[in-house]
Amino acid sequence: MLAMKCQSCGAPVARLDRSGRYICDYCETEAIAEALADSVDRLVLTGTLSQEHCPSCRQPGTRLETGSMDEHPVLGCRRCQGVWVRRNSFAMLVHGRRSAYAGPDRTSDFDLSVDGPRDHHDRLTCPQCCTRMESFYYAGPGRVAIDACDGCERIWLDCGEITRIAEAPGRR
Ligand SMILES: [Zn+2]
Ligand SMILES: [Zn+2]
Ligand SMILES: [Zn+2]
Repeated sequence: MLAMKCQSCGAPVARLDRSGRYICDYCETEAIAEALADSVDRLVLTGTLSQEHCPSCRQPGTRLETGSMDEHPVLGCRRCQGVWVRRNSFAMLVHGRRSAYAGPDRTSDFDLSVDGPRDHHDRLTCPQCCTRMESFYYAGPGRVAIDACDGCERIWLDCGEITRIAEAPGRR
């Protein structure tokens, strides 16, 4: 898989600056990172693999890539488009997406077996510390169950969850 390359010097680029732009470590040129064409959540992946494996894909060896959502660094899975995000980034992401969303409030269909918290035996393994993650309803808008590792202070979002939260009715 091709990593995102600097158009100016060809070096691989994976570093996100504070304003959410990718900057080449070698020549300081800004590299253009685009959201995956079919990403409902506007997930940006750089093509640079991390050490962590996707907790959701059953396919062994599916590694997460460095990437971003808005200006927040995340690790994401190109296959299932799930996202591994810091807890504080998640809070900011929710805030930013909800205040920016100008469309109609949407309440998406809910299927407990698919969208509810995972059964005990079905809980995901943390990509970083390998313990079982908690699975629970997110306390904010949208009826979304998320997975979290307290020790690593990170959250796993399945594809579509951040968008459901952004579009759900409630205070913006
Ligand atoms: Zn460069
Ligand atoms: Zn995956
Ligand atoms: Zn962990």
